[in-house]
Amino acid sequence: MTFKDLGLNDRLLSALNQKGYIKPSQIQDKAIPIILEGHDLLGSAQTGSGKTAAFVLPLLNKLLEIPLEKSKRHIRALIITPTRELAAQVHQSVVDYGSLSQMRSTVIFGGVNANPQIATLRSGVDVLVATPGRLLDLQSQKALSLSKVEFLVLDEADRMLDMGFARDLNKIVGLLPQKRQNLLFSATFSKEIKALANKFLNFPKQVEVNPSNSTVETVNQEVIRVDKSRKTALIIHLIKEGDWKQVLIFTRTKHGANKLCKKMIQSGISAAAIHGNKSQNARTKALADFKNGSVKALVATDIAARGLDIPLLPYVVNFELPNVPEDYVHRIGRTGRAGAEGKALSLVSGDEKVYLKDIEKLIDQRISSSVHPGFELDPSIVYKAIKKPGRSGNSRKKPSSFKKRPNTFR
Ligand code: AMP
Repeated sequence: MTFKDLGLNDRLLSALNQKGYIKPSQIQDKAIPIILEGHDLLGSAQTGSGKTAAFVLPLLNKLLEIPLEKSKRHIRALIITPTRELAAQVHQSVVDYGSLSQMRSTVIFGGVNANPQIATLRSGVDVLVATPGRLLDLQSQKALSLSKVEFLVLDEADRMLDMGFARDLNKIVGLLPQKRQNLLFSATFSKEIKALANKFLNFPKQVEVNPSNSTVETVNQEVIRVDKSRKTALIIHLIKEGDWKQVLIFTRTKHGANKLCKKMIQSGISAAAIHGNKSQNARTKALADFKNGSVKALVATDIAARGLDIPLLPYVVNFELPNVPEDYVHRIGRTGRAGAEGKALSLVSGDEKVYLKDIEKLIDQRISSSVHPGFELDPSIVYKAIKKPGRSGNSRKKPSSFKKRPNTFR
């Protein structure tokens, strides 16, 4: 299949050509025809699978089918994402793919001055990308109207539920016309996601792509067993020894991210932290510096890193394992993207073994583990296993699409 075979408009094909995309990805192959036919869609795909283009392309195509009335622009497509970073990235895709389509779009999210956003909205947009809070805020100020929306996209809906946006989503959907096309994307199809889909979607077609194809299989995963107190020294050593140019490091807490970032800077590694307590400007700057290479190590918490599109990231390090095993899959999805090889390294101390077990169960693989020379374990340290937190009604089942496969990295 080529993008042309999928039936996309010439202007979109030219924009894709400019981006250098040759073949549609699996999710694009499956989702684009369904959306073009006008069906609602429930799609399961991970970040890194090309899911953004899978909904942005057909959506723009559908908008182009009806000639634009420039004098009477109104919001025709609404895309909602859980985080600011993801909103900005999805909007960039709308801009890139729609560059030849005379479409007007904008993105709104909290944490930054609303006035420029209001001014752009007043000048008229066809496509709006938004996070839930700022969207409702500006709607209540009458800075925008959702009464003529034809297409609704909920991106990373599982994360929106995790972040407590269920009520906001209800409110937003209540402001939309009854007749519209709905697309919902989620990394997993949990009970909660199915309930949300039942509520918002109309006889949706379901599309699922095997996440192990897009992430788990192309990522070289490894565990280094190390004492907790030596993790910082080890990561600094690994970066220096391997002369790593770009590494994304995950910590469990904001405080942990700050602390590690400070230690790295003290040891001469350019680093920045990205998490929920940072201002939007600081987050945008950290990401830009990381992308342009002036910052070598980006230290992030799960929520802040969700949806970050950093193509061809060579290294992802789990400084601490996530306590929700699905977050491990999201984290390592930052590397080995679009078919490129990447390496995901987890520094695991004795108390985290229980998390490691859960992760291996989820991905149906044993991850090869070793001890780094010079960082051998101190046998006198006895770790108490970390107590697993209870799940807050969001228990996500193992995706049925994870296949058992031998570990090739041992
Ligand atoms: P996403 O899963 O939407 O975050 O996309 C992951 C990355 O793959 C992004 O950097 C996209 O620009 C890129 N991408 C999306 N579709 C294709 C394609 N058909 N061919 C090559 N790269 C793509």
